[in-house]
Amino acid sequence: MSGKVSLVGAGPGDPMLLTRRGLELLEAADCVVYDRLVGRPILDLIPERAERVNVGKEASRHPVPQDEINRILLEKAQAGMNVVRLKGGDPFLFGRGGEELELLAEHGVPFEVVPGVTSALAAPAYAGIPATHRAFASSLHIVTGHAKAGGALNINFRALAESGGTLVFLMGVTSMGSICRGLLDAGMAPDTPAAMVESGTTPAQRKVVSTLSQLPREAADRGIHPPAVLIVGQVCSLSETFDWFDRLPLKGRAVVVTRPRERCGTLAARLRALGAETVELPCIATVPITPCPDLTQAVRRIGEYRTLVFTSPFGPGLFFDELRRQGMDARALAGLRIAVIGPRTGEAVEACGLRPDIVPQVYDTEHLAPLLTEGPVLLCRSQQGNPELTGDLRRRGVPFTEVSTYRTESGCPQSAEISPGSWVTFTSASTVEGFVRTVPRELLGSVTGFCIGRHTADAARKYGIRVQVAEKATIDDLVELILKEAAFL
Ligand code: SAH
Repeated sequence: MSGKVSLVGAGPGDPMLLTRRGLELLEAADCVVYDRLVGRPILDLIPERAERVNVGKEASRHPVPQDEINRILLEKAQAGMNVVRLKGGDPFLFGRGGEELELLAEHGVPFEVVPGVTSALAAPAYAGIPATHRAFASSLHIVTGHAKAGGALNINFRALAESGGTLVFLMGVTSMGSICRGLLDAGMAPDTPAAMVESGTTPAQRKVVSTLSQLPREAADRGIHPPAVLIVGQVCSLSETFDWFDRLPLKGRAVVVTRPRERCGTLAARLRALGAETVELPCIATVPITPCPDLTQAVRRIGEYRTLVFTSPFGPGLFFDELRRQGMDARALAGLRIAVIGPRTGEAVEACGLRPDIVPQVYDTEHLAPLLTEGPVLLCRSQQGNPELTGDLRRRGVPFTEVSTYRTESGCPQSAEISPGSWVTFTSASTVEGFVRTVPRELLGSVTGFCIGRHTADAARKYGIRVQVAEKATIDDLVELILKEAAFL
């Protein structure tokens, strides 16, 4: 049976600008064919199992020829795959999307087109430039600034100059001088506001706002390079007033997020929305311990316990799996008090249909321990659990059983370029261990670690990392801590 090709617009760079349909198709893809303009944060959304085909290799400077791309799409679909053809911005705007569908149409291969947020609108928007404005422009013209090899620009400058609308040029960095000259020659005023926005919507976004006559020189002086859009028109004069992106509190900051991928989504997204460039470096992986005879035993004798404790969101699911395996359900826990370390773990308990009874004010083991007064306590947690908790129970003579249902493995499957002076978030001592093993030792003295919990901070200090500690073990507090540091500097 034939597969299908989805021509998906990846948007201009900010991964939050990928459409919901685009994401849905990407997550279900067997094969993703992408090119140069699609950025890392979007590529990170491609599932592990999907085949990736890069047809825009920049390093070798030999992008795959168009015919070849068309053929790859056809063959993969005919092999029964769900193929996503991922393109920067919108696939039908200077994206050769049409060409890629021709061969598919000819062979009767089903396809779908998912429009994307185009850089022609998004880059100006992130630079505070509205494409139109009632006071300034009543039309918008999107033009390619790409000249055929060796040829001149095929642009009707007079028509554009007379339109009085906003002009947006894509692929115009090299020909920026000729474009501005052409518009001036066609009669546009030299002081017409004009702007260049490089790498729009990404943490690397830069803008130059000037006039039609001065822009080419200023943009060259600032070293503006592709991808960039050139905007000409009165609307550019609003850029200063409407700028919002450059003013985000974490703009220009790189923050390394060390949680495992499946859990770093929210933290990374929060930081990105505040303007940070996030580097996702998952430093730990959580691995369930199977088989787990201790858990089997504890569940069999569940009626003997008075308090059940979970210290991370991984615990409840594994516990309930075992409960079900033994033919029981939540009713078996009727007489038990359930304690969790924080709200996220609480949510995991609630997902299993129960409500936690005990949540400490400060989300760490130190504050949880004194609340565990009714024994016997069944403690389901990581093999590397903090010994403070069991120590405290022992001291107070509260009987307990500790069961390790999972372990965290430190270490990083990938390496990443971490620059000296980076800001790094640590959510547990094992993320610290994983990070330390991944990056060069000499770097550690220069990084700042933003830690959840004292235990995590101690682990980081041991390696000479300067630390800031969040009071509560929540993402909110961690983000707050980073914002404070940014405001302080
Ligand atoms: N289909 C794409 C455009 C492809 S042509 C879209 O709709 O956005 C490639 C040109 O797009 C680049 O030369 C540049 O002019 C522009 N471009 C793409 N991404 C950009 C970005 N993040 N910032 C500024 N310009 C960008």
